Amino acid sequence: MRPPDRVTAALRDRPRPVCAYVYDTAALRTRTAAVRAALPPGTTLLYAVKANGHPDVVRTLAAGCDGLEVASGGELARAVAAGARRIVFGGPAKTDAELAAAVAAGAQVNVESALELRRLDRAAAAAGTVADVAVRVNRARSAVTGSHAMTGTPTPFGVDEAGLPQVLALARTLPAVRVTGFHLHAVSNNRDAAAHAAFVADALDWSVRAADRHGVDLRLVNAGGGLGVDYRSAATLDLDVLRAGLAAVDVPAGVDLILEPGRILAADAGWYAAEVLDLKHTHGRTFAVLRGGTHHFRLPAAWGYDHPFTVLPVEAWPYPWPRPEVRDAHVDAVGELCTPRDVLARDQPVDRLRVGDVLVFARTGAYGWDISHHDFLRHDPPEFLVL
Ligand SMILES: *Cc1c(COP(=O)(O)O)cnc(C)c1O
Repeated sequence: MRPPDRVTAALRDRPRPVCAYVYDTAALRTRTAAVRAALPPGTTLLYAVKANGHPDVVRTLAAGCDGLEVASGGELARAVAAGARRIVFGGPAKTDAELAAAVAAGAQVNVESALELRRLDRAAAAAGTVADVAVRVNRARSAVTGSHAMTGTPTPFGVDEAGLPQVLALARTLPAVRVTGFHLHAVSNNRDAAAHAAFVADALDWSVRAADRHGVDLRLVNAGGGLGVDYRSAATLDLDVLRAGLAAVDVPAGVDLILEPGRILAADAGWYAAEVLDLKHTHGRTFAVLRGGTHHFRLPAAWGYDHPFTVLPVEAWPYPWPRPEVRDAHVDAVGELCTPRDVLARDQPVDRLRVGDVLVFARTGAYGWDISHHDFLRHDPPEFLVL
């Protein structure tokens, strides 16, 4: 995917060597509107902050969505600072301090265990309030496929479906918590829109039956995130297919259906750019060595794929000697770290690439900077340019 002109213009202004993330808030708003248009009217759309916690991204999506989903005290603080109208707090390892902060912020907590329910009850009682909770459930069977299955399989997330009756029975004895529904986040990076719509329908159906069986006054069903993009192509989960699939879904009256995607909202609003500092040939391969690397953008190393890039040609060459270049070549785009694993893409075709040109990696707005090991080798961080 080629960067739009406003992104390349921002990069051309920067000091050399270029190393930057560009975040495009207009792209965030456009994608948010497209996702919202695919959801049944009245659906609550939250943004999962862990995909990209940059304050400008969080602020933009807090305004464009109905609220934010957070998974730590740090994200909670950012969500409050961003003015989120609604906050949902999830994650498997909440501390007492985080639970107290969630109660103070009026966040709805997705409870992940019986012990956490007791601790939240104590925090809410201490604050003189009653906390609304959704119980996160690891269902007996997974209804959806994707790259990171989190339910229907052994994971540390949520309450095992078999243990749900005991957790709900415990909740009835705790005066400062009120179970209002279920949280059923199940998958990451699902690109099959029809399957995702079927998953949401099944989540609603399962929740209605579970609420009936256990005497829960069902007011919310959180189907989580997981709407996917394909990094190796321009493909995104087909929002028209999602809309058609969800149009047939029956959301019971009085039930708040929540979706809390991260990746699909933020991925295409981010561009990672790194200048070529050197070109070398060893043992028959060509390496483009970048000012940057996996300490800024770890996703391809973490997931084991090659992240596509485009070449932004830069004409200026400040040295008196000839400029190294390759033509009609295949190159490995590697970073500045002293490890052979610092690879963003292998064996990628380039028409022409020179030292001083800039590689621009599209779809890096989600799980890019935020999941990377910034301090390894202590290179300077990239610039962050917000459009
Ligand atoms: C990570 C996560 C999300 C967001 O997932 P995406 O794949 O980015 O849409 C939503 N909810 C929970 C509980 C998560 O852990």
